[in-house]
Amino acid sequence: MSHCTTCTTNHPTIADYFSENLYTWCTNCGNFGIHSAVKRALVAEAIRPEHAVLCFDIGCNGNGSDKIGGYRFHGLHGRVLSFAAGASCANTNLPVIAFAGDGGTFGEGISHFIHTIRGNYNVTFIFHNNMNYGLTQGQASPTTKMRMHMNTSPDGPTSDTLNAMRLALTMDVSFAARSFSGDVKHMTKTIQAGLQHKGFSFIEIFQACPSYNKETPHEWYQQRVYDVNEKVADYDTSNKLWAHELAEDLEEKIAVGVLYQNKNAIPFMDRQENRQGFTTDLVSEVISYESVAQQLFDRKR
Ligand code: SF4
Ligand code: MG
Repeated sequence: MSHCTTCTTNHPTIADYFSENLYTWCTNCGNFGIHSAVKRALVAEAIRPEHAVLCFDIGCNGNGSDKIGGYRFHGLHGRVLSFAAGASCANTNLPVIAFAGDGGTFGEGISHFIHTIRGNYNVTFIFHNNMNYGLTQGQASPTTKMRMHMNTSPDGPTSDTLNAMRLALTMDVSFAARSFSGDVKHMTKTIQAGLQHKGFSFIEIFQACPSYNKETPHEWYQQRVYDVNEKVADYDTSNKLWAHELAEDLEEKIAVGVLYQNKNAIPFMDRQENRQGFTTDLVSEVISYESVAQQLFDRKR
């Protein structure tokens, strides 16, 4: 499926997403693979840089905001989902992609995560889970494993580890998938599936952080991940309880792929009965108030 509704011949290439700014990530950081997969997925879905909104949180992931071409917005820590949701309401024709890490999402921004799921805003969320606050040099986050040695907690955190996928499923997320930063091909197809979903797509990417998370490098994930869509016989992505069950294990056998999808969930703007029949989007109505007034007037006649 193509999201590129405004052109049929000007298909994007990876070069269209080029930025001349140099990467600042550490050597072997998982962010490199994630950025590559995001660009590949956008190109495969025929989404040109000028036809998408890329929203970035604070964190190492956010430092990629000027390393990719296109319309980008870099906001406050933990708040990316709120402004991404706003963008998705303002212009329902544009794919909106949000990027954030585990600290921002489940430390500062956990309420935004919950409410964006509740609203089923049309946002594809790339959740970088490297299990620490990498940008500030390796503090424990809510997804850090209990007792994992961190810079500011040498004996490791003593709170239970937050399983992001299980929380998302509990909140009735309409699309839930996982991948890991060592497999660009898998991330690309997973992100494509998220972009094609109508509503909120939660994509958890287990990300290697070789500088501050020594316990789960790419090799660790490589030995444990399995794609439920390929390896689990008759796996049914509409079965939420099954997804819950497979998402629980974060140690031995780690389920990736599309874990759950509710294709009937109604996206936020389609729930607004007072907007039914409108031919304009909010963004154009700001520019042309007369158009809204005319539509309301026509409706009353
Ligand atoms: Fe990547 Fe970790 Fe370095 Fe941040 S601190 S750039 S996540 S390796
Ligand atoms: Mg992090």
